[in-house]
Amino acid sequence: MTTERAVKALKSSLVSAQLQKKLYAEQSKAREEGKLICWLPVGSGSLGTVVRAMDIVPVFADNYSTVCSAKQLGGQLCEIAEAKGYSTSLCSYFRINMGYLEGGKESLPMPFGGLPDPDILICYRHACFLYCKWWSLLGRRFNKPCYNIDFPFIRSRAEEKDPDYLKYHITRIKECISFLEEHTGRKMDYDRLKENLRGLHKSWQYFLEVQNMRKNIPCPAGAEDIMGQVAPLVLLGGTAETVDYFKGLRDEVKERVENKVGAIPEEKYRIIYSHLPPWYSVGFFNYLHKFDAVCVWEEYPTDFHPQWDVDKFDPEKPLEFLAKQLLYALVPKLGTKDRYNAFFQAVKDYKADGVILVNCLGCRIPGAGMALFADRVREELGIPCTPVLDIDQTDPRGYNDAMIKGRIDAFMEMVEQSKKQ
Ligand code: SF4
Repeated sequence: MTTERAVKALKSSLVSAQLQKKLYAEQSKAREEGKLICWLPVGSGSLGTVVRAMDIVPVFADNYSTVCSAKQLGGQLCEIAEAKGYSTSLCSYFRINMGYLEGGKESLPMPFGGLPDPDILICYRHACFLYCKWWSLLGRRFNKPCYNIDFPFIRSRAEEKDPDYLKYHITRIKECISFLEEHTGRKMDYDRLKENLRGLHKSWQYFLEVQNMRKNIPCPAGAEDIMGQVAPLVLLGGTAETVDYFKGLRDEVKERVENKVGAIPEEKYRIIYSHLPPWYSVGFFNYLHKFDAVCVWEEYPTDFHPQWDVDKFDPEKPLEFLAKQLLYALVPKLGTKDRYNAFFQAVKDYKADGVILVNCLGCRIPGAGMALFADRVREELGIPCTPVLDIDQTDPRGYNDAMIKGRIDAFMEMVEQSKKQ
């Protein structure tokens, strides 16, 4: 196994890394400063704004699994968890978190010195039920109160727009806030929540501008820069610092578009990537540059901000705003038809010459239906797709760099041939 760090083109990516570092430093100090700490998953999207509005420090424990993986600790932490009986078929974010708690934090050089233990936990189901089980387990383990916002699976955009779903989500968010108030003795500061949501909304708008500008030829920013933008968007979503950050990112990308500066010096091929990246080897995307190819769109960041009607979100109606965010983000939660319609549209809008398809072994949710999607892309658009590549998002032990690159080499040959025709 060889893993590679991403080489990034945007100056903003450096700022993003610094913001993330600062956040983890603040989390480490939170305990000494007597602040309350809430563990929640990245998939909870905008719920970080709720916690912050109550002056509680949010800690995104699943994001920490990606950080551990990027620091090349994913394999060791999974091994610790597996030795304690956690099956290899479970989500690798989860196994890394369990490995951290089951001895990794004492025996390994954990990034940022580890995580402060929670006082309280909240969870939104996001794409899979594992999250609820994971957070319930954490609640029992730390003997702290845990609230799970559950919801039924939504199988189509039509259901997503069903007012009953919205009402149901609003009720559950209200309950979650009452739960936080009851167990922390703090009152929700709705003015502060609205302010946080205004910030989050602005950040989404800037980020969507960036994503739209990537439709330009040459593409101003590749996946090696964009995948990491989920971290500031979710971990720090809503803070004034993040709004400034996303404005800076938008301005940088805009300037590149105006000056026709691409992610690579000579863009010949535009590639789309299906979902979660290998966090231990984000340099995977730089490998495409060897063929004058750049990854111009990825499905993964779309999980964390609404995909449609963004301008209709109203921060002055915070509960509805939060409910809609949970409903309208995360395309993989939709049934195969709507999900692949959205994906298919991106292939067209971003003028892709080929598609890299991945089955995330450590997640499985995004890999569903990939083969059907590949048939549709080949038949209707006539562009090549890779075979569905087995790549775990955080556990690098099964990652065979030479084999994956061999598949990419063959795929790029097809892309070159197809473009000549
Ligand atoms: S299985 Fe997938 S969707 Fe579920 S927690 Fe793991 S990474 Fe997230």
